Amino acid sequence: MWDTSLTTSRETDPDGALGLADSLAERGDGAIRALYERLGSAYAEQRWWPAETPFEVMLGAILTQNTAWTNVERALDQLRARIPLRPEPVLGLAEPVLAELIRPSGYYNVKARRLRCFCAALIEAGGEAALAAMPTEPLRHWLLAINGIGPETADDILLYAFERPVFVVDAYTRRLFRRLGMIDGDEGYERIRQQVEGAIGPDTACFNEYHALIVRHAKEVCRARTPACERCLLSRSCRQRGGE
Ligand code: SF4
Repeated sequence: MWDTSLTTSRETDPDGALGLADSLAERGDGAIRALYERLGSAYAEQRWWPAETPFEVMLGAILTQNTAWTNVERALDQLRARIPLRPEPVLGLAEPVLAELIRPSGYYNVKARRLRCFCAALIEAGGEAALAAMPTEPLRHWLLAINGIGPETADDILLYAFERPVFVVDAYTRRLFRRLGMIDGDEGYERIRQQVEGAIGPDTACFNEYHALIVRHAKEVCRARTPACERCLLSRSCRQRGGE
């Protein structure tokens, strides 16, 4: 689903001053939808997640914790060269062997433990098909009960592996929303997630694309230390334009 009134808003408000500078509490829903519209008009479709199978998404979601995606790709390539990327072969590797294979992803000893823990839980639960049959909230609780899986990783898996309509809140999201004045920055994960999900509605394709667009814009333009405000399509609506 999508609010077609946004198209009208953009046409009548070409500068994009669509209330982005108002806080989530004041005009959150309009700002959230307007931001998606603006980013979507500026970038080509992102087509996330870069993986061959849902299980590869799950592995990638754990490996990408605290590291760049390029490092995850190197780790997955090494793992793929050694074993088929399925839960049983991953669990069949001794932990030190697994750790060595995923070394490029950083924190490789911790992540090897987390991957084995995750694969054991996945197999015990009956595999991907059993999880796919679960409603979203019980599935989120199941994921969060596994050692090393926090809300962001759980929602990455829910959205990109199981195609559930959830919004992923990561550091890029917080930075962009804060700079735009949409959040103070210290709101809890759940508050931001539920606010965005309430504004958008249960639209998996939109959440998939929205998160990918935020990451793209935050990496290329709204960078942490050197935001390129002079070429940012959101600059007219941004409270932080030019610095922190
Ligand atoms: S104007 Fe600058 S701080 Fe604001 S969203 Fe754009 S790049 Fe980020």
